[in-house]
Amino acid sequence: MGLLALGTALDWPEAKTRAHLVRAWGIKQLLEIWNKAKVKERDAMLWGDEVEYLVVTYSKDDPKVLLSLRQADILAALAEDKTLAKEITPPASPGGTKPQNKYPSPVFHPEFGRFMLEATPGKPWGIDFKELLHVEPDMKLRRAIAKDHMLPNEYPITLTTFPRIGSPGVFTDPHYPVSGPKLRSQFVPDEIANPHIRFPTLAANIRSRRGRKVQVNVPVFRDENTPWPWKDPTVNYDLHQWPEDDDVRNGAAPDNFIHMDAMAFGMGSCCLQITFQAKNITEGRKMYDQLSPLGPILLALTAATPIYKGFLADTDVRWNQISKAVDDRTAEELGEKPLQNDRWRIPKSRYASNSTYISEDPRLRDEYLDPNLVIDPEIKQQLLDGGMDDRLATHFAHLFIRDPIVIFNEDLEVLDLSKTDHFENIQSTNWQHMRFKPPPADNNIGWRVEFRPMEIQITDFENAAFSVFMVLITRVILSFDLNFYIPITKVDENMETAHKRDAVLQEKFWFRRNLFSSRPSRGSGSGTNTPRSGGGGGGSSRANSRPPSPVGPVEDEYKLMTVNEIINGEEEGEFPGLIPLVESYLDSVNVDVATRCQLARYLDLIRKRANGELWTAARWIREFVRGHEGYKKDSVVSEEINKDLVGKVIEIGEREARGEGFKGLGGGLRSCWGGFERGVRMNEGWKDGLTLFRQLYTY
Ligand code: ADP
Ligand code: MG
Ligand code: MG
Ligand code: MG
Ligand code: MG
Ligand code: MG
Repeated sequence: MGLLALGTALDWPEAKTRAHLVRAWGIKQLLEIWNKAKVKERDAMLWGDEVEYLVVTYSKDDPKVLLSLRQADILAALAEDKTLAKEITPPASPGGTKPQNKYPSPVFHPEFGRFMLEATPGKPWGIDFKELLHVEPDMKLRRAIAKDHMLPNEYPITLTTFPRIGSPGVFTDPHYPVSGPKLRSQFVPDEIANPHIRFPTLAANIRSRRGRKVQVNVPVFRDENTPWPWKDPTVNYDLHQWPEDDDVRNGAAPDNFIHMDAMAFGMGSCCLQITFQAKNITEGRKMYDQLSPLGPILLALTAATPIYKGFLADTDVRWNQISKAVDDRTAEELGEKPLQNDRWRIPKSRYASNSTYISEDPRLRDEYLDPNLVIDPEIKQQLLDGGMDDRLATHFAHLFIRDPIVIFNEDLEVLDLSKTDHFENIQSTNWQHMRFKPPPADNNIGWRVEFRPMEIQITDFENAAFSVFMVLITRVILSFDLNFYIPITKVDENMETAHKRDAVLQEKFWFRRNLFSSRPSRGSGSGTNTPRSGGGGGGSSRANSRPPSPVGPVEDEYKLMTVNEIINGEEEGEFPGLIPLVESYLDSVNVDVATRCQLARYLDLIRKRANGELWTAARWIREFVRGHEGYKKDSVVSEEINKDLVGKVIEIGEREARGEGFKGLGGGLRSCWGGFERGVRMNEGWKDGLTLFRQLYTY
């Protein structure tokens, strides 16, 4: 994330008085960009990923594993390293494909947690299929470079959350006592957050606006010996340092929930984000809409968060916890009190699944939109007056119901229309699962769409696989003109469903039945969408042969499906499955065999996650804890278990860096070997993989 310039950050009561000005100027800046960039055409199909790491200290002889708070030193060491500044050639991909291009060195960024790092590729990836093969080596390189700029006992790991963050005792290096004036947390010190003034101000102003601390409650996993009802034993009811210490005495920590009380418990989580550049605004708006219903599915597939604050949780993903950790809504906005001072009731946190569609696609039926969407009508009118269409104006008028949280006094002197700072202030603190990113003020890049729900995966193989899968899905959506629309409120429901334990195998999600369905103009046969290029085997031909469907009730357009059905297709029914669609897309374009075989490894991971052959990280972590000899079946993840878990994760990383382990994944076998091309010599390891590696992390 880009950091705003330093300045005087206003405390909440003062910031509140300037909120209206920031919004007004933000809208002017938005209209300025929009008017300049709405005609932009033919921007390249570029994309880029973001990988976030926790930095831990670990050594075999030390009984404790800790969060290292040296983010600033590590970033400084990376910035000073002149050898990184020149172009680097990524190592060959596994399987021997040599990258032909040189890439600039990866870029490292700060994040909210002072124990976090973020890394992106040195420049966005291009459209060439071969570039997809450079992602995994580049991710490995990023991890290696990060490690090289750490102390010998520090490691970048890609667990979503540190299992014992906020547990009693010492969990950071160095240790700081609780509690500080910004977070006022009884579990984590202020020093846990990036000290750049933006971050503590964000946390303090969210708390202050809300009128109490954030309340991050996660249902505890009930194991054989878990006392029931369960009372979070780490909550201290006897503190009297801050007014907010009353929160727990007022019921903030209900039975059977792990109770957390600070932004760090959410924004200290790591995720995997993908940003796509569209060729123009129309395509960008379409991508935003079409990728939206996929969010919860990818959240369930990437589930990796079964532990909080030293306890097994009854959920598998991080999303809602981040949502609660930055929920700045007041009691009035939450509907707990009648509206007096605030303008509206707001059903969701500012970190939540997105609440509206934005495309002018004729297939978007009014019924898909939420009739209760909260918008600021004045903002919407200003946008309409500025020439923006209704649907996009609605989207921004919804984002702009929020107050800016961090305001720097210096920025309020004159409105600078050559900047986008006020617009970004609101935009970048609306953390929805999709983000529509307008070009920056100088317009040198295009309209972008960010896909944000995925959990970070333990290995770079997996992170590359999910990134590449999303790129391929996006290509499929655009070339087959797929239609994933379901009512947006069903996407919300799916997001909740994705939290359930093992949702990927146990739950069903609302999903559109016919992805090739026609435009809702009755009788217009030209509305039927067929693959533009090539044959398309598998599911698409089945779906293709359907006549254009007349418009029926919206409820008939979607149904509940398992993730396996969505990803791999229905055995009996008609739904083709996303992987078969990707395969048929790949059949229809020119991909060389070597590239296709590598892509097959990634698709195989997704396929097997969905059908249960491979576990999610959440499942693996939960089983690791429950199978640990020190585990007392009481939901407690002790120091000892934590150390062994993190030690295992470090070991997995080291083995991956040495190129061990993932030879095993080989749907490559099915498609490359038995399939479309003869004479590809397969690595022996791939063969073994099908039988040996039932679980991705088992070595
Ligand atoms: P943020 O944290 O605001 O989402 P970052 O700059 O950290 O943004 O990451 C954005 C991602 O988008 C990076 O992977 C970057 O390589 C990629 N990216 C940068 N420029 C473009 C572009 N023009 N089109 C697509 N992706 C881009
Ligand atoms: Mg980030
Ligand atoms: Mg970023
Ligand atoms: Mg950012
Ligand atoms: Mg970010
Ligand atoms: Mg991002």
